[in-house]
Amino acid sequence: MTTYNAKAYSAAGATSPLASTKIKRRDPTDRDVQIEILFCGICHSDLHSVRNEWSEFMATNYPIVPGHEIVGRVTKAGSAATKFKPGDLAAVGCMVDSDGTCRQCRAGLEQFCPNMILTFNSPDKHLGGVTYGGYSESIVVQEHFVLRVPSNLHLAAAAPLLCAGITTYSPMHHWGVTNGKKVGVVGLGGLGHMAVKFARALGAHVVVFTTSPGKKDDALRLGADEVVVSRNADEMKKHAGSSDFILDAVSADHDINAYINLLGVDGNLTLVGVPAKPLGVGAFNLIARRRSFSGSAIGGTPKPRRCSIFAASITSLLTSRLFRSRRSTKLTKDCSNPM
Ligand SMILES: [Zn+2]
Ligand SMILES: [Zn+2]
Repeated sequence: MTTYNAKAYSAAGATSPLASTKIKRRDPTDRDVQIEILFCGICHSDLHSVRNEWSEFMATNYPIVPGHEIVGRVTKAGSAATKFKPGDLAAVGCMVDSDGTCRQCRAGLEQFCPNMILTFNSPDKHLGGVTYGGYSESIVVQEHFVLRVPSNLHLAAAAPLLCAGITTYSPMHHWGVTNGKKVGVVGLGGLGHMAVKFARALGAHVVVFTTSPGKKDDALRLGADEVVVSRNADEMKKHAGSSDFILDAVSADHDINAYINLLGVDGNLTLVGVPAKPLGVGAFNLIARRRSFSGSAIGGTPKPRRCSIFAASITSLLTSRLFRSRRSTKLTKDCSNPM
């Protein structure tokens, strides 16, 4: 297999800073798309991986080139690649390959495929070693894992949709967040702020739970209907048993039961944060109201005809006017894929 050199930023070890380097990329095969990277988001997972902070779950192989919120322009497309041609806008998220044959892949849930390959720090079956991510001037990815980018998007703003966006949108879609539902968002960080925007655009009543009173104005500006300082027991009590869905984006140790108790009958709390220590869930908190507690990870590759980069309607999300509007049921209708 022939290769070419691409500029990249890599870290040589857990305590090394990122430094400019050259890496080898494969020349595109028949099914590949080569992309000139215009923007790449900085995700907290990049930092965790560079510092090898998830060593028990996925140890870092050095050198590491992180980055999985990639937006760019196609420079070459293989002869069997049918969706893209040079000049097209394109995006790559957290995955670059999977077996394509298992039950999860057939359902469009490649993120749960046992043979899924992450964009960085996964075995590179073409060149050996590990995959290198988007902190680079170009990337070569199998077409199935390349997403279309509508031309009316602000490209830099679109990049975080590839990880933070899909990570928060996917569970809301799965658990049926729609007009009139009450949605709690725990933590207003990188994931939380996306969650607020999606929940608002889907027509939900959005309540942000934060430990920081200083984040109240930001939460309201992003579209929250209410902001609750979770350290205030009286404020928390007012919302007991009333939420349909809660997205918990907190990676620090926290009392999960305090949030489970905010759910109504059949309510669901989905964890997308990654606290280092196990969480102690009180059994009665779940069984008393048939509540459920679950997790979620990124999202699958959208079916081409039904969705491009999480549906054209998410495109409209990015225009700030619509972030605050209630014209949103369109989102779920347009994007009836299993993300
Ligand atoms: Zn990420
Ligand atoms: Zn699979």
